[in-house]
Amino acid sequence: EKGMDYAIEDIFVTNGGSEALIFAVMALCDPGDEIMVFEPFYANYTTFCKEFGAKINAVPTSVENGYHLPSEEEIEKHITPKTKAILLTNPGNPTGVVYTEAEQDMISRIVRKHNLALIADEVYREFVYDGAYRSFGTMPELDDNLIIIDSVSKRYSACGARIGCIISKNKELSKQVIKCCQARLCSPILEQVGAAALYTTPASYLEEVNKEYKKRRDTIVAALKKLPGVKASDPKGAFYIMVNMPVDDAEKFAIWTLENFSIDGETVMFAPGNGFYNTPGSGINEARLAYVLKSEDLERAIYILGEALKAYPGRVEK
Ligand SMILES: *Cc1c(COP(=O)(O)O)cnc(C)c1O
Repeated sequence: EKGMDYAIEDIFVTNGGSEALIFAVMALCDPGDEIMVFEPFYANYTTFCKEFGAKINAVPTSVENGYHLPSEEEIEKHITPKTKAILLTNPGNPTGVVYTEAEQDMISRIVRKHNLALIADEVYREFVYDGAYRSFGTMPELDDNLIIIDSVSKRYSACGARIGCIISKNKELSKQVIKCCQARLCSPILEQVGAAALYTTPASYLEEVNKEYKKRRDTIVAALKKLPGVKASDPKGAFYIMVNMPVDDAEKFAIWTLENFSIDGETVMFAPGNGFYNTPGSGINEARLAYVLKSEDLERAIYILGEALKAYPGRVEK
């Protein structure tokens, strides 16, 4: 259905996408090796790397250009002799960015030129709102380099099932991954049976879900545009949006809001942006919002956020 062509022996079932990421890092990295990621990024990547003494090599992107990738030259400047892989999330968490085909071609050229692995975390593949999506798995020139991370968690709202997979045609990598799989014995059989059944869900289900999230995306983007001093990107996929707020520190603001601010007994909570960065001091006035509520509730939440921003003593006018 997705134009990807993999054999059963290229696919290893894991305990969620998380274990697939852990196996990828374990198979690729010795202590001191580096994995390149684009900042801001999914915070757990830091944990998965630290477990094996691998380091995050963070390349900054910014809200100004919708968190798209820097130039080929700029990315190549960050590659060191210790760099083993480029890890990217497409569609992105926390940014909602969906990379263009030109960006994918550029990444493909870079990993092949520098003999790097490309770990493509595609767990949000179904959540794309403005046009087509191309999986890295449909680019045969990447066969030797590509490792795909997949999961049922987001696709079927089944995070608790703990079923994902790591996919690669690189036989040397597979030889290492199978050792990881044997050492952890098995991912849960009952969940595997359940997950297999989920894949028989009619396509109309995912179409409905996609339509609903697109509506939520449009709602939150429009609501945020009305808040003075708030800058947000225009997310094209996943279900998150990063916002830049006129505050001294988004974590302090989050705590202050929970402790001191409510309207008719209701308040809002969000993820402070700093945790999605590797570079110290980055993302201090940013937050990740997840648009996983009904549109009416999102409107209300953003209204409360706007009022909290007006009342917050640490507001900073820019
Ligand atoms: C949720 C998530 C995962 C993995 O979640 P699992 O429940 O372990 O499958 C991986 N990558 C990103 C970017 C995520 O948001």
